[in-house]
Amino acid sequence: MAYCGKCGNQIPDGDLFCSKCGAKIGGSAAAPASALAVANQDNRYSVILTSVPDDKKGGVIQVLRMEARCGVTEAKNMINTVPCTVKSNLSKNSADALAANLTAAGADASSTT
Ligand SMILES: [Zn+2]
Repeated sequence: MAYCGKCGNQIPDGDLFCSKCGAKIGGSAAAPASALAVANQDNRYSVILTSVPDDKKGGVIQVLRMEARCGVTEAKNMINTVPCTVKSNLSKNSADALAANLTAAGADASSTT
């Protein structure tokens, strides 16, 4: 058995509102997604691959195939035509993560607006 946090009335389990005062029972409802927060994500980012050392090409191709979802031929073309855009129109988090993975594989990569 719960009690109304506003008036102290007993609330049968499962009821969402106090029958005496009408207060909502239980935790506060989740705040609706802020339109401002969504608008702030409208900046889109591109990942730019600027260089790939010869001895790192294999690993970078693997990252490109996994993270950028491209085929072997496309990945090879990318690393042979640096600087190039790996992927565009990403959220900042996605772009930073992809750039970090490419960097970890030995390439020079960065995210930019
Ligand atoms: Zn009440």
